[in-house]
Amino acid sequence: MEYIVEPQKKIKVSEQADICVVGGSCTGVFAAVRAARLGAKVVLIEKQNCLGGTATSGLVNVWHSLYDTDGQNQIIAGLTFETIERLQQAGALKCTDSVNSAYQFNSQELKIELDRYIKENKIKLYLHTYYSTLLLDGNRIKAAVIENKDGRSAIKADFFIDATGDGDLCRDLEIESYRNKTVQPPSACFLMKGRVDSNLLSQVIREHGHEEGLEDDWGWGCNAVCSDDIRMSADNHVFNVMCNRADDLTFAETEGRRQMRAFINLLKKYGYSDERYALVAACSHIGIRETVHYKTLYRAEEKDLLSGKRYPTAVLNGTYRIDIHHSDNMGITFKYLDGTVTTYYGKNTRQESGNWRTEAGITGEPAKYYQLPLEVLIQEKYENFIMVGRMLNADEGAFGALRVMVNLNQLGEAAGVAAYTAIDSNMPVQKIDRLKVCETLKAGGSALI
Ligand SMILES: Cc1cc2nc3c(=O)[nH]c(=O)nc-3n(C[C@H](O)[C@H](O)[C@H](O)COP(=O)(O)OP(=O)(O)OC[C@H]3O[C@@H](n4cnc5c(N)ncnc54)[C@H](O)[C@@H]3O)c2cc1C
Repeated sequence: MEYIVEPQKKIKVSEQADICVVGGSCTGVFAAVRAARLGAKVVLIEKQNCLGGTATSGLVNVWHSLYDTDGQNQIIAGLTFETIERLQQAGALKCTDSVNSAYQFNSQELKIELDRYIKENKIKLYLHTYYSTLLLDGNRIKAAVIENKDGRSAIKADFFIDATGDGDLCRDLEIESYRNKTVQPPSACFLMKGRVDSNLLSQVIREHGHEEGLEDDWGWGCNAVCSDDIRMSADNHVFNVMCNRADDLTFAETEGRRQMRAFINLLKKYGYSDERYALVAACSHIGIRETVHYKTLYRAEEKDLLSGKRYPTAVLNGTYRIDIHHSDNMGITFKYLDGTVTTYYGKNTRQESGNWRTEAGITGEPAKYYQLPLEVLIQEKYENFIMVGRMLNADEGAFGALRVMVNLNQLGEAAGVAAYTAIDSNMPVQKIDRLKVCETLKAGGSALI
């Protein structure tokens, strides 16, 4: 490898804040909003042209149930619930009776709602701005260096939150990392016009996919809201890529777009003859399910999640099933709190079922929801730093459930409140009063039972 030395350069300080959040999906925005509502001066850095991350740039427009498995008690509230209400008011939400796709929203409208949160809470937002590196003073972060149309500058802050998904700040801080055995593959989502149903898709892909280089791959799609004739398609995966590597990410984007055209071409040829199939929009960023994970004080594990373990410092309640997209055989496995396990291969090509409770000889009532403690966000070393998002410290099974947005949204809120608490109490994040964080979350609208 050849190296070159970058000369030292004086850069301007573009902002001085209490908290700097890097990454503006709902995870990062909700962290920023919760801290700002407590009185912190917050700066938010986002590299795309909009907020929302996978939900907007990636076109993924489904949030899952906010209720326990009985459907009786609301276990998730906070900014997820507030946003659902706002989207409903904007006519940008469809409520379904499926717990696995409970809320389908219009991704474009979500961008606008997130912009409103920024304005209302006086958060300083930088779009089209790339986090570049960190400046340290021992175990404290002094500043984050950013790049945008103004060139290179620094954000000084008392506390930093990494909500970049891949953990770009964690990488630069050299926090211990690992990959799970199965790294869930990405999908390039798109909007398409034209009627399809699962039988048609299954037949077309199985019989003709090879003509366009498409595998018989498990996938899903749903109404793109609020238009019955536009479908959000997450029907394909790009395999064998690690999307926190520049070359792989570049390949994944172009291969994802190739798959979109291939899919539409097949439907034009073998779909319903009276339909005019068309590609309406390609995601502006491929949907990344998983890359790397970073170690924190607590690692989420499948066994604790499925047994519904409770924590005094719980900052998350959830019911979303374990959902693992296989990296090697076009399959997906779902595991539920009630014991059900189902694996599907291809587009309805093959199915296997089982029951993890029966197999483990577990009797008694299954848990109605699971929890996660605040410690999952706290790393050991840096006093003014928290990471939150899909870089979560979790094994394959726990990650499969926790990675969805109704869960990461709650962790985002917890990260914002923890950051505020550290500043307010003038403590390293490792020493903050964790119960106080839970109380503050509750007082701010989170449903922590
Ligand atoms: C195809 C697909 C389908 C899915 N389906 C669902 C579903 O139906 N429902 C559900 O709830 N979940 C679903 N998920 C999972 C869920 O969408 C993601 O796990 C979740 O959105 C990840 O959130 P995040 O905040 O960790 O990361 P991201 O959404 O990736 O957000 C990271 C943000 O940080 C920004 N960023 C990154 N690096 C930098 C940098 N260096 N400088 C500045 N900004 C930066 C990015 O632009 C982005 O806005 C799906 C995921 C995929 C990929």
